[in-house]
Amino acid sequence: MLDRPLLESILAAHGAALADDAFARLDRFAERLVETNRQFNLTAVTDPAGVTVKHFADSLVLFGLYDFPAGARVLDVGTGAGFPGLALKLYRPDLQLTFLDGTRKKLDFIAGVLADEGLAGETVHLRAEEAGRQPAFRETFDVVTARAVADMAKLAEFTLPFVRVGGAFLAMKSESAAEEVRRAQRALTLLGGRAARDTVYRLTPDVPRRLIVVRKISQTPTKYPRASAQIAKKPL
Ligand code: SAM
Repeated sequence: MLDRPLLESILAAHGAALADDAFARLDRFAERLVETNRQFNLTAVTDPAGVTVKHFADSLVLFGLYDFPAGARVLDVGTGAGFPGLALKLYRPDLQLTFLDGTRKKLDFIAGVLADEGLAGETVHLRAEEAGRQPAFRETFDVVTARAVADMAKLAEFTLPFVRVGGAFLAMKSESAAEEVRRAQRALTLLGGRAARDTVYRLTPDVPRRLIVVRKISQTPTKYPRASAQIAKKPL
């Protein structure tokens, strides 16, 4: 299903290698994604090159752009069908992944892939703004990721409460998100974060992307995250 030479060349350009066993796990996930997508909607992209670039390369270049510590606790907020979280786990099984989404069906899909691969991973069926208030999740993750979930200011309130002080939030955005990121600076500061890095790069010549690395520099005040309606009505 996946175009291995294409995936390998994109990852190599970002300094990440692709081992045979990791590729085999990722390819089985891709097959299942497209197969399951015939029954319920998981992805709009289903052609091999599109899936390879827009889902798998997009997720896995994170390993070239950020140094995930061995055994790190990683949370993927709004994981959907598992991007980037499940791709990260299949590539680096040492990572302790938690998958959070408001939609149960997508989490069941992820749990099925993990079970078939014999890998552990926690699925959490809650909205981010609910889970972020629970002590079991709050400020307990080394790295939090999110792709295509919300505008940066809202996303910061969804994600930063989960990150431990000293950890990082990785926001995967389109190249055009510069203004959105600039507007979110106040939100990041209020939530205990600081944008440490803002990188624009290309997966292929026509697929530019942006990664914002937000460092958690102080605890998030307990009043955040606020209730969903407030976040939607009055983003920080
Ligand atoms: N991250 C995946 C990707 O890039 O392919 C999925 C993106 S999809 C457009 C957005 C996902 O975020 C959906 O699965 C939705 O259920 C979830 N989501 C949106 N807001 C959320 C929230 N506040 N809490 C939990 N999940 C949320």
